[in-house]
Amino acid sequence: MTLRMAIPNKGRLNERTVELLMKSGLDLGEDWGRRLYISVKNQDLEVVFVRAQDVPELINTGAVDFGITGWDQVAESGYKMQKLLDLEFGYCRLSVAVPENLGMKSPAEIPDGCKVATSFPKLTKSYFERIGKKVKIIQVSGAAEIMPYMGVSDIIVDLVSSGSTLKMNRLIELDVIVKSQAVAVCGKLEAEKKEAVTDILDSIRSVIEAEKKIYLMADVPVKNLKAVEKACPGIEGPTIMNIAGRDDMVAIHVVINKCDVFDSVNKLKKLGGKGILILPINRLVA
Ligand code: AMP
Repeated sequence: MTLRMAIPNKGRLNERTVELLMKSGLDLGEDWGRRLYISVKNQDLEVVFVRAQDVPELINTGAVDFGITGWDQVAESGYKMQKLLDLEFGYCRLSVAVPENLGMKSPAEIPDGCKVATSFPKLTKSYFERIGKKVKIIQVSGAAEIMPYMGVSDIIVDLVSSGSTLKMNRLIELDVIVKSQAVAVCGKLEAEKKEAVTDILDSIRSVIEAEKKIYLMADVPVKNLKAVEKACPGIEGPTIMNIAGRDDMVAIHVVINKCDVFDSVNKLKKLGGKGILILPINRLVA
């Protein structure tokens, strides 16, 4: 039973998606960058590279079993899909933005008849219907920010991440329609395929979790062990090991959050910790 997966072939989501697949142990080979389609060498899995916008369509038609794309694309497609995993990158939001000089402060001030440029016509239409505004939607495939200045539209609905592009184009964000990040999604799947997809996603999840943690090893005085355990509690408490020929010191191994490294190392040093080693973790299977 060969599984088929669609992932973005270029753009913002491509690089990290490929990185996650490779780190999770899928062998995409050397020349994945030049191909639109590959058979994963060590799994019964075919990966198809398509535009992020096309991933929901491929899933919906059954051409692939599952895929990775932005949640915004899934929402815009209107297809009923199951979100399998948030991938914790590609964060952005689909927002309504207006030129500064219009002086609008809230969506309630958008006048009926307003022209809205967007590459998300379906989400835009349902948003304005929801807030009871009659607008004219002008579909563009990119660079919506420039449209008000070209006289094509009055306002825009576009993806925003930091907000710097809006600022550069003198646009003000009035409302958020959808919050998005990269996700793994599937349509209806038979049980056997669902299980195989779950195994792949568990593996990807283990990579994402591992990236947030580090492995810390240190020799610490036995007399301070209680305080050391408090300083570095780890997932289920540190592993404690004897050191040959020493009864005053033990070795501890512990998994800690990356953001706690600085504090933990300082606390360990104060508690007499020696030979402190910090190592990366490739996968963390809880
Ligand atoms: P692409 O058009 O192939 O670069 O991919 C666009 C996808 O990247 C979108 O559907 C979003 O899910 C995601 N993304 C994240 N931040 C942004 C942003 N600031 N602008 C556009 N797309 C973004």
